[in-house]
Amino acid sequence: MNTVAHQILVQPTVSSRLLELDLQNLSFGQVFSDHMFLAEYHDGQWQSAQIIPYGPLPMTPATSVLHYGQAVFEGMKAYKSPIGQPLLFRPQANYQRINQSAQRLCMPPVPEDLFMAGLLELVRLDADWIPNQSNTALYIRPIYFANEETIGLRPATRYQLAMIACPVGSYYADPVKLLVSQNYVRACVGGTGAAKVAGNYAASLRADQEAQAQGYDNVLWLDAIHRKYIEECGTMNLAFVMDQVVITPPLSGTILPGITRDSVLTLFRDLGLEVEERLISIDEVVAADRAGILKEAFGMGTAATIAPISQISYQGQDMRLPPATEFQYANLVLDKLEAIKTARVPDPYGWVMKL
Ligand SMILES: *Cc1c(COP(=O)(O)O)cnc(C)c1O
Repeated sequence: MNTVAHQILVQPTVSSRLLELDLQNLSFGQVFSDHMFLAEYHDGQWQSAQIIPYGPLPMTPATSVLHYGQAVFEGMKAYKSPIGQPLLFRPQANYQRINQSAQRLCMPPVPEDLFMAGLLELVRLDADWIPNQSNTALYIRPIYFANEETIGLRPATRYQLAMIACPVGSYYADPVKLLVSQNYVRACVGGTGAAKVAGNYAASLRADQEAQAQGYDNVLWLDAIHRKYIEECGTMNLAFVMDQVVITPPLSGTILPGITRDSVLTLFRDLGLEVEERLISIDEVVAADRAGILKEAFGMGTAATIAPISQISYQGQDMRLPPATEFQYANLVLDKLEAIKTARVPDPYGWVMKL
């Protein structure tokens, strides 16, 4: 064992599983890299920061997260540059967001040096797990949850931070088909929709399952009050291209402030394209489809990057979008974003962190 900066104890594995990795058949979230980062918060302090071989965490059935769900997470990707240097895309944005999510659930803030040191050390140690074919990456999943042994309902006094990593391929094999949910809502004003809170996803599973039973991939969520304005879909923010304008719902407090969304809007604006962040009703999308000006619809998120949408169903009517190969805006921004993330073009934004 040896100690690196910020007192992270590093215990490297003695038996790497890297050779078992099938790079040609990467699915999403099934295979985990050799190591994981752990840190604990108790007695009012962060402690026991360590990187150890990936494996189970001990806990009892009284662990508070299992009862009241104080759990938040993040998702980011590591890539390799053309010369094989490990790269992270906007990790500080994930750091800031995990603390915004934590704050919503009364969890103590994670110190920046702890988060960044753990992240960088984990990615360095498991750098050989970063695949470098197109559409692949090492997905890093920080999780942060209450692990006090109590079933009393109150913010816990003990927490666990962990980071695990998985080499991943494409999230969706094909363009995505969305069903507008009429029976369920994802988030409401004053709720937790803007935080990456585990419970949001548990609450969404039923609607997704019903959509999948009807042949759709995911649900398109409408706002909880008017049941009219488009919010987002499962793990992605949404954008539409109508005529020559990119339109996306505003960050109103009920949708997740996506880092991909922010990056895409920045790139579009800097390309001189027209971008509108505003309320967009499902009726407006239906009308645009009828008028023939709905050119593109796509999801934006770290896992899927840019996911073209082929179909949206609302009240029994299917809107079909042009083939994804004809999506000029989505393909343009996808190429640009991937080139920046893999350091194949200069990064004028300071988004890429080289390790
Ligand atoms: C994570 C997530 C997104 C996308 O955020 P990114 O930072 O781009 O990965 C969008 N919507 C929801 C609900 C999410 O959980």
